[in-house]
Amino acid sequence: METTVTEPPKKRLRAPRPSFVPELVYFEPGALEYEKGKRIYQWAQDQGIPLRMTTSHNRITNFPGDSELEQYKIAKRTLVVGVRKTLKFDTSKPSAEYAIPIATGCMGHCHYCYLQTTLGAKPYIRVYVNTTEIMEAAQRYIEERKPDITRFEAACTSDPVGLEPITGSLEELINFMADQEYGRLRFVTKFHHVDSLLDLNHQGHTRIRFSVNSKYVIKHFEPATSSFEERIEAAGKIAKAGYPLGFIIAPIIWHDDWEQGYGELIEALAAALPPEARTQLTFELIQHRFTKTAKSTIERRYPRTKLEMDIEQRKYKWGRWGQGKYVYPDEKAEALRMYLSERIFEHFPESTIDYFT
Ligand code: SF4
Repeated sequence: METTVTEPPKKRLRAPRPSFVPELVYFEPGALEYEKGKRIYQWAQDQGIPLRMTTSHNRITNFPGDSELEQYKIAKRTLVVGVRKTLKFDTSKPSAEYAIPIATGCMGHCHYCYLQTTLGAKPYIRVYVNTTEIMEAAQRYIEERKPDITRFEAACTSDPVGLEPITGSLEELINFMADQEYGRLRFVTKFHHVDSLLDLNHQGHTRIRFSVNSKYVIKHFEPATSSFEERIEAAGKIAKAGYPLGFIIAPIIWHDDWEQGYGELIEALAAALPPEARTQLTFELIQHRFTKTAKSTIERRYPRTKLEMDIEQRKYKWGRWGQGKYVYPDEKAEALRMYLSERIFEHFPESTIDYFT
């Protein structure tokens, strides 16, 4: 009897997320006087992206689109290239002393993102071309505090890795910080575009953290960012390049099968990291939270979101600077903290959990 052997269907692999290409690029006065400004101009021209001049990013108000939602989406794909005028850095406690400003805004569409409220009506992306002046300012902060170490966080208002293929600013900061006895750099990302950073002589002075989550959370709440697999693969590369490495698991969300989802995440990390990366590994754990203002913005911008923001099911946590936040009730928060801590120490006994909040 003849048997027909049918080949199993080929698993369709997702194409890697290409690096970000904006739909529109604006240049502010002075930007083209800097080498980086000229380079971005040339790049945008080669890409065939429409280029415009503006006297100030504040004047960019009319984004194309028939609805507020469409305009918001186009704004998120608009790049403004400018000169950073304020060289006074904001503080960035607890993870660093200062925020180092190289970009503002992000092309990601994470439903819960803090930029929704902090950037308000200005969701376009701004990158700064005067990196040398920014580094000189950092140098002054380092001098003021030495012999204490001064840490700079480069991802307070953006995701700089997603923009690195356009700006090259992280490469400059990493090289700069390598020479600083008392300076350290850190940043966090949901993107995997790290290849240009792998061969740098970083001297261990830059800690790169990946923001990771369960597949469920990435799939439902983090559109336009790199996939679970891409981030984990990138973390493996960063570990092999000898950078101090960390993970931020945020926001930790109580979803169906969350134990399975977060268990799978920690196992995937354990499978991807070489032994030498495990000793200095740090974890930061942040449970999902929202303010009333954020809730109404999210519901407007992502009207079909599955993000649970039911005030009745949350605990109110007073905020130090005004509006309080809704977090999980203690019982749920404790269950999340316990489960994740146990999985982390099971697979990475030498790692540190910096905090759960
Ligand atoms: Fe916000 Fe980060 Fe998502 Fe960008 S990647 S939208 S900065 S949470």
